[in-house]
Order: sequence, then C-alpha cells, then structure tokens
Amino acid sequence: MISESQIENFKITPFKITLKKDGLPKCSTRTTPGVITQRSCVYYGARWVLAPIKNTIHVVHGPVGCAYYGAYVRKKNYLTVSSDASEVDIIYGGEKKLFNTIIEAARELKGDAVFVYVTCPTALNGDDVEGICKKAEEILKIPVIPVYCPGFCGYHQSKGHEIGMKALFRLIDLDYENNIDNKKDDDNSKFTVNIIGEFDVADDLKAIKNLLNKLGIRVICTFTGDCNVKSIINSKKAELNLVHCRATGKYIADYMEEKYGIPQLKVSFFGITNTQKSLLDIGKFFGIEDEVVRLINEEYNKIKDELNFYLEKLEGKRVGIFMGGSKIGMLSGAFRDMGMEVVVVGSQFGSLEDYLEAYMNVDENTVLIDDASNIDLQLLMENKKPDIFVGGTKEKYLSLKVGIPFVSFPQDDYPFTGFIGFLNFARELYRNMYHPIWKMIKFNFPTMD
Ligand code: SF4
Repeated sequence: MISESQIENFKITPFKITLKKDGLPKCSTRTTPGVITQRSCVYYGARWVLAPIKNTIHVVHGPVGCAYYGAYVRKKNYLTVSSDASEVDIIYGGEKKLFNTIIEAARELKGDAVFVYVTCPTALNGDDVEGICKKAEEILKIPVIPVYCPGFCGYHQSKGHEIGMKALFRLIDLDYENNIDNKKDDDNSKFTVNIIGEFDVADDLKAIKNLLNKLGIRVICTFTGDCNVKSIINSKKAELNLVHCRATGKYIADYMEEKYGIPQLKVSFFGITNTQKSLLDIGKFFGIEDEVVRLINEEYNKIKDELNFYLEKLEGKRVGIFMGGSKIGMLSGAFRDMGMEVVVVGSQFGSLEDYLEAYMNVDENTVLIDDASNIDLQLLMENKKPDIFVGGTKEKYLSLKVGIPFVSFPQDDYPFTGFIGFLNFARELYRNMYHPIWKMIKFNFPTMD
C-alpha cells in the first residue's frame, strides 16, 4: 500500500493535467465552474457503495429526481423509495413525510435495515433526520441508519463512498445473533477473510472466491458486492480483511483493525502480476505459501496458450484509461503485464495515492489527468491516438465517435479478475481492437486542432 510519506517524495504540479516526467496532477479539488465534468455527486457515491446490500430498504429523503438518479448503479437498477420532498416540505420541513415514508416502506418491503439518504434540499431545511430515524427504529425494531450525503458536501462521489462505508460501522458493531454464520455444512475451509471494496461486477467476485476457496479460505462478507445485514454483523469473526479497492475499502478496514484487531492486506486481482502477488501475500499471512505457488502454476497453465496468442497481438499497442480512482493503478499494472503502452491515464476522482500507483506503471511521456471534461478527453484521444480506450459508459461513445476502439470498465459480461478474468480482459481488448468494422469506416470528423 502506498503511504503518505511515499507521496511526499514526489512532485505535485499545480495542474490537473500533466506529463509523468513533470510530476503528479493536482487532484481532489473542486471542478472548475462551467466545465462539464464526468463526476457524480456525493449522494451518488453513497448509493454506489450501499445500493448492493441485500434485503435492505433505501429511502431517499429529497425530491423524486434524487431517488431516480440513485436507482441505477453499476448498470443495475435498484429499488429506491423517495420521500418526495416538495416545495412546501423544503420550506416548512418534511420530517412527518419522511417518518411516514420510512414506516410504510419498511412494512411493505420488509428489509433487515433501512438506509435514509439526506440529499441537498433536505440537508438545508433543518429536518432532524437522525431523530426521525431513531423514532422509526423504535417502532420497526430494525436498524434505521441516516446517511448524511447531500451532493454539495464534497467535490465528487469519493466523499460519498466514505460516508456510505462509514454508515456500515453501526451494522458491524451489532451483537452476534445465533446461527448467523454463513458456513455451509460441506465447507472445509480453514481460514476466513472479508473482502472490502469489491462490488461484484459481472461475476468478478466469483472468480476471486474460486481462487480463495481452492486455498481453503472462506469469505465471510464482501463489502458490499455480496453482503447482507447478517454477514456484515458476522464480518468481525474474520481473521483477515482483504482491501480490494483502497479508496472505498480503507474506512472499514481501518475501523475493524482498530476496534476488533483484524489485520488488513491490500490486494488486487486485476492483472497477472497483481493476482500472483496478492495470492502470495495471502499465502504468507496464513502460512500456506506452497499451496499458493501450486495454485498459481495450475491456474496460469490453464490460460497460457490462449493468453499468449492475445498478448502477441496486443504487445506494443497504445492504450488510454479514464475511470474511477483506485482502478487506474491496477489497470496500468495489468497493461504493463501485457506489454502495452499507457499513453493517457485519468480519473474523475482519483486520489494522490491512485495517481502515484498509476505513475509507477507508465512511461515518462504518459499524460496524467484528473477530472477531465469531455473536451479534454476528445483532445487527448485525437492527439495521443491510443489504439484502444478503456473507460466507463460516458467515455464509450466519445471514443467510438473519434474512431478509437473501446472496452467498458466496469465490464458488461465476463469477470476481469483473477487468471480467467485476465484472459477475458485480453480477449476483449483483442476483439475490439482487431474488429473488422475499423477497416470499413472512414473517420472524417473535423478535429479540434
Ligand atoms: S446534487 Fe443534490 S439534488 Fe442533485 S442528485 Fe445529488 S443530492 Fe440530489
């Protein structure tokens, strides 16, 4: 894990865009007014973290638009309930409406906990959301947790990730109930872990769990890609916390280390080198290094022939990356494994640690950019001319429009984690880059030179 003292050794430029040889970009600052940013609001960041928790109810205290905006997370639609705060509620207060919404939602939907999100308008009208949640909790006898995440309380969604993860501390601290262990009768696992900051896109988690299970390691709780209230309560039984996404995972990992003495290990299952290193670190922790080496050889042998075919085709190709903060470092490492050159790497909300991790894996002339606008990205695509661009849905059509093949990350169909995921990723890059369509279309759009 990159420490703050390591960051101090690097030059941070006063600009959001820089070349590696000039230093790290300035980040975690407010977006320039008037620029069309790719960032989301703090509330959406909290939704990103809390939406996948199974069998929980999500009440959004605000106008219906906030609830609608927060319903679609990581390409999935989640049920949200809105308190439908209107003009009158914003002026005179909407506590009664919120209370009735929580009670009705809990009785109709029957969840194990309720999360109540405070949005911009209801953060300003003075509603005592905490008091309302307490009152509702006494009646419902399940945790009713306020999530104070108005869009304006941070520069971007990353603040919402922090608020969302910290909202789970209350559930972690709840007492054990009987028979809440998720261990199955035929499970012979010897060790237990939690995975923190893994959101199970397209079976990514399944690929990780497959590897861990082969080593006799059981995952008690995955924050938050595969968890419910019971597994969150039970998570404090784990022997080790694996932090997959540092930006979102560090809050819970630090909290559990301090309060319950559970050590933490930063891992990444994106890319061969990252996966091997993570497994070896886990093996060292549990004293099963030999089993890990055997597993790495077995898994690598399964994919190596097909992988080598793609790697030959991808070697030396140029790639651009623009996505959520903590992924940029891992992905830069994965591209280095493939012998590809990262010419642009950027994020909507990367931290200095994220940029430093990416910095370590790229060349001197690679562009590092924070909070790029659409125009910034288009100019970079046209000038750096990557052979492929990897990013989120918002970047997809821009990239295709300027004639650059594109791979979505988070992905749509297959896992990209572990050995099998790396093979899927390489195949996806190859298929998009070498697709015959690129020979059929001529791009004559005016450039912005
Ligand atoms: S910025 Fe404020 S009003 Fe807009 S969606 Fe986010 S929380 Fe709601």
